[in-house]
This record gives sequence, structure tokens and C-alpha cells, in this order.
Amino acid sequence: MAPRTHIIGAGLAGLSAAVNLLKAGRDVSLYEAAGHAGGRCRSYHDATFDRRIDNGNHLVLSGNLAVMDYLRDIGASDSLTGPSNPEFPFFDLASAERWTVVLDAGFLPRAMLSKAGRVPGAGRWDYLKAFRLARVGKETTVAQCLGPDNALYRRFWEPLAVAVLNTDGDEAAATLLWPVIRETFARGGSACRPMVAKEGLSESFVDPALAVLKEQGVEVSFNCRLRELTMDADRVTALTLGKDTVNVDDGDSVILAVPANAAAGLAPGLIAPDQFRAIVNGHFLLDQKAEDSSFLGLIGGVADWLFVRGDIASVTVSAADDLAEQSAESIAEKLWGEVAKALDLGDAPLPACRIVKEKRATFAQTPDQIRRRPPARTALNNLFLAGDWTDTGLPATIEGTLRSGLTASEAILLDLN
Ligand SMILES: Cc1cc2nc3c(=O)[nH]c(=O)nc-3n(C[C@H](O)[C@H](O)[C@H](O)COP(=O)(O)OP(=O)(O)OC[C@H]3O[C@@H](n4cnc5c(N)ncnc54)[C@H](O)[C@@H]3O)c2cc1C
Repeated sequence: MAPRTHIIGAGLAGLSAAVNLLKAGRDVSLYEAAGHAGGRCRSYHDATFDRRIDNGNHLVLSGNLAVMDYLRDIGASDSLTGPSNPEFPFFDLASAERWTVVLDAGFLPRAMLSKAGRVPGAGRWDYLKAFRLARVGKETTVAQCLGPDNALYRRFWEPLAVAVLNTDGDEAAATLLWPVIRETFARGGSACRPMVAKEGLSESFVDPALAVLKEQGVEVSFNCRLRELTMDADRVTALTLGKDTVNVDDGDSVILAVPANAAAGLAPGLIAPDQFRAIVNGHFLLDQKAEDSSFLGLIGGVADWLFVRGDIASVTVSAADDLAEQSAESIAEKLWGEVAKALDLGDAPLPACRIVKEKRATFAQTPDQIRRRPPARTALNNLFLAGDWTDTGLPATIEGTLRSGLTASEAILLDLN
């Protein structure tokens, strides 16, 4: 029998690993505990709106290489949309100021050369602090490196860090911000166009991948939770999936592509991040449909980012552990007030809305927790790890997740060749 890879978890890490292994002509089985794929990055039918919405707004950048490669591999390259220019509009909820960070000639040149290209209140030299990120110590936080007492930090770096690291700037690890800057902002405008799913997250990242799997004869086993890994001294020998046992034959391998807390419960002795941060999303039904999708960075309030697609306005609040403790009604009131202000809707009453709390949206990306990220290879020679919490060197984002799937699957291909 040809060697088979058993992949546990059909989030983007598991799907990325499966697509890569199939591309290399390898046999794959995929098991998912939920009744659907996509994990933390998916669309679902929402009863309030009687239509599909995303579990949370997800933004990627045009320079995210693994994202673009994955979308090409699953035939979904044209499923993202974004402004044709690399522009990040912001609105200050406290002062009602608006400005746009434009990155057309790379981050530094425009901001350094013209006042018009700078964040209001930011001095030319504030921008040079970005280079500190390249040599920052492992224990340094984003606030220590870039802030906290300057306009550029408050109006650009902090919102960016919170969005990317889902951790407040005064505890987020600055080391994780540098690869993002290096791979996108530092490569100039074409690498940092903000992009969102045209239709929905599942339509971009999940459904086309499932179609590729199906074409190759792979059906995901849904509602199929891995309960136990049976191991001998150096390898996994069987999987307990619900009530069934699946043997892991000689030459077969296993990728555990489940969240950190689930992996730690399944692989004894695994050291993995064990602190998490919430993301809260509020979706609101607008009276009118917007022609184009748009987004807006918000500072000076509770909300961080506002996305408008069709007649739905969606607000994201990252590092939102305290907010997530509040009732959906009270969150909706707060966020709607900010949406109405940002969209100039006056005192429009609260419309139909849905609040989605993801309490473990990502691991807390602090220096302490980063030390707990394990590599893809484990002490068992046929067990591999994938997921945004593994040691990708990148933040826990779609880009890092997809790369984790590639790393685990490439390690298996290397062993097989
Ligand atoms: C609200 C929100 C907003 C976000 N915004 C952004 C953004 O703007 N940009 C960005 O790049 N990233 C964003 N992210 C992060 C991104 O969604 C994640 O990094 C990514 O989806 C993680 O994928 P994963 O495959 O590692 O894990 P998951 O998506 O968690 O997938 C793991 C899968 O394993 C399954 N599973 C768990 N236990 C078992 C078991 N025992 N047996 C079988 N299956 C199991 C789960 O059901 C799940 O389907 C956001 C995340 C959230 C929650």
C-alpha cells in the first residue's frame, strides 16, 4: 500500500497540508471534529440575517506569498478583492479626524518625503523607528520598540500590531511584527494592498480546497473527532476517531492540525502556547447596499476595524478578552454607536445584528508564549504538527497557518523521498 498521511483538523492548516500532499501525488485522509471545514476562518448561514456571513473579518495583504500560492493551487486566485492602491484609511472616533496611510512607494519614502503622506501628528523621524524591529530583542514588546508616546504609534503601529498579533501592544512580541513588515510593507506598494474575500471566507479559502480534494477522490470525514493517539516508542500506530480505530501503517504519517489546546490534550508532553486572546465581531444590517467592499481602521474607541460588504457592516475588536465577557446586547450598542459615527449615519437606531465572540481566536502572541511554539517535527518520527500556533516565525494569521501546513507536509515528503 502507498504511504498515507492522516490529517487531523480541516482548518486552513490541515487543508493546506492536504492540498500540498495531493499535488505531490500522495494519499491523504482528512478527519474533522466539526460538521464543516475552515475552523476559525469560515462562513456560515446566519439565522438573523438569513444569509451567509463570515465568523469574523479576515484581512490579508497582497504580499502574503503562501496565501496567493494556496489560492492559485485551489483555483481561487480571483476570489479576493481590495483597493487597487495600497491605502489604509483611518478614522479617529474621539476627534473625528480622518486620514489615509498610503504605501505606494514603500512605507518609508513617501512618509519621509512629504507631510501629506504622513500620519497626522507624526514626525519624519518617527518612521525610522521601524528599523528597530529588524534587530529587536526577543523580550521586547511592540510598545517598547515603537511607542508608546508618539502619534505614529497610536495611529498606525498599535492598530496594526493589535490586528496582526491579536495582543495589546504593551505585551505583544515585537519580533513577530518584523517578518510581516519585511515581507509586505518593506517590499513596496504592490505587496501591501489590503485584501478581503469577495464573497465569503469559505468561498475563497475552504470550498475550493474541498473541491480539489473531492476531485482527487478525498472526502473529508466530518463529525469525526480524534480522541486518542496510540503510540509505541517512536511512532503513532493508531488513531481513535469517535468509536472507530484507524491503524497507522508502517510508512504512514499523521499531521495534527488542530488548535494548540486540542493538540496539547492529544500529544502527551507537548509544550504549546496555553494562553489565548479573544476577537469579537459585530455584524450589522445597513439600510443601503454599498457598491464596493471597503474597510476603515478605527482608533479612539472600542472597535478596531470596520468592513462594509453589500449591506452588512462588520466590526472587529481584537485582543478583546474583557469585551467578550460582556453581553451581546451591550456589545452591540457600543459597536453600533461607533459604526454609525464612522459611516456618518447620525443617530440611526440599532439595526438587526449578530455578535460573534471567538474566545480563543489566537494564542497570546507575547514573548513568553512564543517560546512555547513547537516545530512541525515531533519526537515521534511519523507525527507532525501544523497550525497557526506552531513555530512558523510568523504571527498567527492565515499566511502563517498556510505555511505551517506546507512545512509539515514538506517534512513528510522529504522523509518519503
Ligand atoms: C475572528 C477571527 C479573526 C481573524 N482575523 C484574521 C485576519 O484578519 N487575518 C488573518 O490572516 N488571520 C486572521 N485570523 C486568524 C486565522 O483565522 C487563523 O490563524 C487560522 O484560521 C487558523 O487555522 P488553523 O488551521 O491553524 O486552526 P483552526 O482554524 O482552529 O482549525 C483546526 C481544526 O481542527 C478541528 N479539530 C479540533 N480538535 C479536533 C480533533 N480532536 N479531531 C478532529 N478535528 C479537530 C477544529 O474543528 C478545526 O476545524 C482570525 C481569527 C479569528 C478567530
